[in-house]
Amino acid sequence: MAPVWTNWSGGQQCRLTATVRPLDDSGVSAVVRRAAERGQTVRPVGAGHSFSALTVTDGVHVDLSAFRGVTASGGDPARPTVRVRAGTTLGELHDELATRGLALDAPLELAAPTVGGALAVGMHGSGPSRGSLSAAVARLRLVDGRGRLRDVAAADLDAARTSLGALGVVLEAELAVVPAGRVRVTREPRPVEEVLRSDFWSAHPVVEAAVFPSASTALTRWADPLTDAADDEDDGEEEAGERSLGVTVAGATGRTALGGAVVVERALPRLVPRFNRAVSRLARTVSASGPMHRVLSSPPAVRYEQTEWALPRAGLAAAARELLAALADDHLEVGLPVRLRVGAPESGWLHPAHDRATAWVAVRVPRHTDHGPVLERAWRVLRAHGGRPHWASRSDWTVEDTVAAYPRYPDFCRVRDDYDPDRVFTTPPLAAVLGD
Ligand SMILES: Cc1cc2nc3c(=O)[nH]c(=O)nc-3n(C[C@H](O)[C@H](O)[C@H](O)COP(=O)(O)OP(=O)(O)OC[C@H]3O[C@@H](n4cnc5c(N)ncnc54)[C@H](O)[C@@H]3O)c2cc1C
Repeated sequence: MAPVWTNWSGGQQCRLTATVRPLDDSGVSAVVRRAAERGQTVRPVGAGHSFSALTVTDGVHVDLSAFRGVTASGGDPARPTVRVRAGTTLGELHDELATRGLALDAPLELAAPTVGGALAVGMHGSGPSRGSLSAAVARLRLVDGRGRLRDVAAADLDAARTSLGALGVVLEAELAVVPAGRVRVTREPRPVEEVLRSDFWSAHPVVEAAVFPSASTALTRWADPLTDAADDEDDGEEEAGERSLGVTVAGATGRTALGGAVVVERALPRLVPRFNRAVSRLARTVSASGPMHRVLSSPPAVRYEQTEWALPRAGLAAAARELLAALADDHLEVGLPVRLRVGAPESGWLHPAHDRATAWVAVRVPRHTDHGPVLERAWRVLRAHGGRPHWASRSDWTVEDTVAAYPRYPDFCRVRDDYDPDRVFTTPPLAAVLGD
């Protein structure tokens, strides 16, 4: 019987011809060639953490879980680099970098996604001048649509660093990394109006906020680097900080609260708005220190569907106000707070933050609740504010939108014609946003 695949949220499913787990580069080439000969499509698959249908196919999944680990480190001591295999999870990458005294510049908090998947969709954290994982790519090696092993030419790198898996199966990436350091992360309730001012977003290198539609208080989180002296003082506090995170209602931008909201939602939906307002009021300040990937880490308390859009940063306040009002006015209770983040302009031709300082706005709805009306309302507002959706999130985006919103799309198409002329990697969901 054909294997059935389901993504993390449970919202995407497909019946595959096969899942193949090659053990080396020539095995990946063989899978692509064989599928092409049989007229089957091929989709590389990572941890399945995308909410969109990017990996949905009735063809072949290439699972790179045998391609794990950091294979080399080097570069200038002031600009270190590592080579990492694409099936490595971000959690494994953080740990391997830490043993070398290194870290990612991108403040990525989730351990499960793979390097290949995170690059393909442009996975990002939040900081006014922080890029995504894709921004760190210095070189890429992949197997293209004809089964050829290729080192991506420098001229094609901005197509390949965020490619939606349309150019080939990435095997290995060389990434720019930074010396490891410690940070102090602070979680604090702040008035929503303060969070919507631009100075809130420039005060810390890593900063984000989460807002329930019916609340006047936002749950915020930021991280600042620790000096050596402060670092010594903080030793021992980290544990206390992390313990207090367990009981604070703010949790990881409201993570503890989120679980509660969902429980309330299932039991008594009409209590949710009141509960959400109370959560925001009761939240208190907590802090913890340690390596960035550890103090930011916040495994999700519940499974949910998500739409996240990249907007011009200057439009964040207007878009967020309109979105929060629309959700409240339409009585569309989201169950989870709307998440606000920021990022630097990206060079990747298809990165949603391409060429503009960006604000990210994410609307999340617990699975098993009726997410359709909430997501559709969010799409309407965020599209009208010049948003481009995160490729991994749910949206109604079309190829016409891509053509209009991405000035380098024609260049991407030229590279795609070279790497996958026969469209071995193109499924209907991919064609819907990238064209045939
Ligand atoms: C709980 C949760 C939290 C999240 N938080 C964030 C967040 O903070 N920031 C953010 O930006 N996103 C976030 N996301 C979305 C997430 O970043 C992406 O879904 C994730 O990076 C994809 O990685 P994956 O390994 O799961 O890839 P998959 O979802 O399996 O695949 C995603 C895409 O990558 C392609 N791909 C996978 N491997 C390769 C490869 N080797 N070569 C070429 N293409 C490949 C696939 O074909 C597909 O197009 C979150 C998702 C969840 C479920």
